Amino acid sequence: MKKIENLIDGFARFQQHYFEESPELYRGLCEGQRPSTLVIGCCDSRVDPAMLLGCDPGDIFTIRNMANLVPPPNRDIGPQGVLAAIQFAVEDLRVESIIVLGHSQCGGIKALMAGRADAGRPGDFVSHWMSIAEPARERVMRQLPQAGENERHRACEQASILISLKNLRSMESVRARLEDGSLSLHGWYFDLVVGSLRAYSPDADAFIPILCAAHEAAPV
Ligand SMILES: [Zn+2]
Repeated sequence: MKKIENLIDGFARFQQHYFEESPELYRGLCEGQRPSTLVIGCCDSRVDPAMLLGCDPGDIFTIRNMANLVPPPNRDIGPQGVLAAIQFAVEDLRVESIIVLGHSQCGGIKALMAGRADAGRPGDFVSHWMSIAEPARERVMRQLPQAGENERHRACEQASILISLKNLRSMESVRARLEDGSLSLHGWYFDLVVGSLRAYSPDADAFIPILCAAHEAAPV
């Protein structure tokens, strides 16, 4: 794990690469950003979207939060950072696609599935936030009552991606651009045990491999 001194060394390398050796990229980015994609990912330290997807600065507009969730667009709630950032990406930056990037071994989903002893206590921000995915937990418990813990967690991680996609579709700004065909939505799932990437297929109603694990010859 990196300590603070190592992070400063890391910035020195970044500075050398982008501002001394090849400053062209940031010279252009100073004029403004034009990312093609909004990625909504988990804040988990193991699943950095830019690193996973091989992106340079300026390539993707990123929102990260616990379990890569999109809350329902309820006008009655107070200031909402996630919805504000989505609206900005869709209306102002005019991104062409939105990817909800979930992952295996998600601590947020694990907390949701386990339930917290202090759930409902004022100030329990984790349970309050994760309640967005409660319909996913209920669905998994209903459909997989006999399954083991790992299978249920995996199912809930994937079901919660679908909840975020549903909440995205219920945002006015997103719906308008889906209807005129200028925006597409995607649900992706990174398995950090085997290093594979899956995408949700509405036709199959399942997450299908985009890229299989590095050691596999063909998708499974
Ligand atoms: Zn996570």
